[in-house]
Amino acid sequence: MDSNKVKNIMFSLGADLCKVAGIDRFDDAPAGYHPLDVFPSCKSVISFACRFPAGTLTCKTSVPYTRVRNSITAKMDAIALDFCIEMDKHKIAAIPIPTNESQWDIKTERWRSIVSQKHAAQAAGLGTIGRHSLLITPEFGSMVWLGAVLTEAKLEPDPVLNRICNDCNLCVKACPVNALEHLEIKQQVCWDHAFGDNEETKNWEISCHKCRDICPYNLGYQI
Ligand code: SF4
Ligand code: SF4
Repeated sequence: MDSNKVKNIMFSLGADLCKVAGIDRFDDAPAGYHPLDVFPSCKSVISFACRFPAGTLTCKTSVPYTRVRNSITAKMDAIALDFCIEMDKHKIAAIPIPTNESQWDIKTERWRSIVSQKHAAQAAGLGTIGRHSLLITPEFGSMVWLGAVLTEAKLEPDPVLNRICNDCNLCVKACPVNALEHLEIKQQVCWDHAFGDNEETKNWEISCHKCRDICPYNLGYQI
């Protein structure tokens, strides 16, 4: 199994982007959240992305954006699961990282995925993390959702990209609750503002993506 074959399987399952990182690119992972903390025989991390419809950013209601986010999570998890089963058929162990599931890290007092999807994507050269704390890809900007698979297969890694964010700080100024004032996003401040029940409709919605909207690279730059 080589990197091209792996990517072709991912694309056949519905991924729009797929890149590979070697395990040596995760030295900065927080203690307990390194791929080897999850899967001790991991040699490569496969990061993939699916497009998130850009029109959802300009709707007058938060419902389409919220619904796509909820649906795409299930889609990413299904792709990762099917991919791992496909690898099993080749007698290669691979495990999926849940797409939108985090646990409380008592050491740093933050919610974390068992392996950061964003950092895995950056390590694999899928994109780079912007000042707004979102991944920016050359092809689709930040309008992607991320998935990852850990595997014992040693695959050819992709090159890491140069930083795309230009530090214009438009996202920092656009945030209504100053969640981006420090380099590390104030996670709970953002979530308390952006997620929750709509007071009028009583629907659970994601009502803020202003940092995503305003970024000059939100739709990518290789169109
Ligand atoms: S989603 Fe909204 S609240 Fe959260 S960081 Fe972006 S602009 Fe701020
Ligand atoms: S709005 Fe500017 S500072 Fe913020 S992520 Fe985009 S390019 Fe970077």
